[in-house]
Amino acid sequence: MTPRPARLLLLGHPVSHSLSPAFQNAALRAAGIPLIYEARDVAPGDLGPLLGVLARDGAAGNVTAPHKAAVAAACARVTPVARQAGAVNTFWTEDGVLAGDNTDVQGFHNAVVGLRGGPPARAVVALLGAGGAASAVLAAVTAWDGCTARVWNRTPDRARALCARFPGVAEPAETPAAAVAGAALIVNATRVGVADDAIPIDPALLPPSADVMDLVYRRGETAWIRQVRARGIRAVDGLPMLIEQGALAFERWFGQTPDRSAMWAAVTG
Ligand code: NAP
Repeated sequence: MTPRPARLLLLGHPVSHSLSPAFQNAALRAAGIPLIYEARDVAPGDLGPLLGVLARDGAAGNVTAPHKAAVAAACARVTPVARQAGAVNTFWTEDGVLAGDNTDVQGFHNAVVGLRGGPPARAVVALLGAGGAASAVLAAVTAWDGCTARVWNRTPDRARALCARFPGVAEPAETPAAAVAGAALIVNATRVGVADDAIPIDPALLPPSADVMDLVYRRGETAWIRQVRARGIRAVDGLPMLIEQGALAFERWFGQTPDRSAMWAAVTG
């Protein structure tokens, strides 16, 4: 096991909207670990020097947009799943160097299991978005029995580039409607709905038998998830994935399972 971290940080730009400090600090308190998880706004130009300091300090933490790919490139060691996703959301220090993992992948998988009882099999997954979160979704889909993904993105070149990294599993879709047609699971991995009640696709276009997951999270759920559920479709926002990826990161840092009920209480209470 790696030594207990000397500091715990969330690196992003900006990070002010993040719920992670609230639930990670609740998990630390519940475990009696005398550390504070601290959000740090890091401009892209400052990331490299900061990572050097963090490795020297024996720090650990999480990474959010826009730094996940840069931290993956900067880590001396990454797990196979982080390499596959091309992104690190969880880092720690071992032997004086930074190591990275991507708990978004398993966090997404766990949230899907929570929503529908298990992952889909021999089915199509519709994925809206082609950024870091979408990449984690595809890394999870590759492990699901016989599943493929249709990926739509506002900037089509990014969808094509992402699909090229998951050959035989992912293919680009021309429109959101083409992506969702006949899909068993529909995932919003765009930023639509983060700051307002905008929706990524009209709920009327979704197959009624599909399950829906919005990776976006807001206190009180996203407007899209409320509208989708109003049509009788099983749906959940990004909060379960957020808690799960955070719980898996905690396990990585401390070698113990965090108190998930304390984490949930910190973001819903
Ligand atoms: P990212 O790498 O910056 O990618 C952003 C994605 O959103 C791109 O596909 C982008 O399309 C798309 N987009 C942005 N504004 C849009 C708009 N107005 N209309 C259509 N598409 C738009 O970000 P990310 O890290 O993948 O995160 C994406 C979302 O997932 C964020 O809301 C984030 O909070 C959420 N997330 C949640 C969790 C969780 O645990 N629940 C974990 C990770 C991420 P273009 O390529 O065209 O710009």
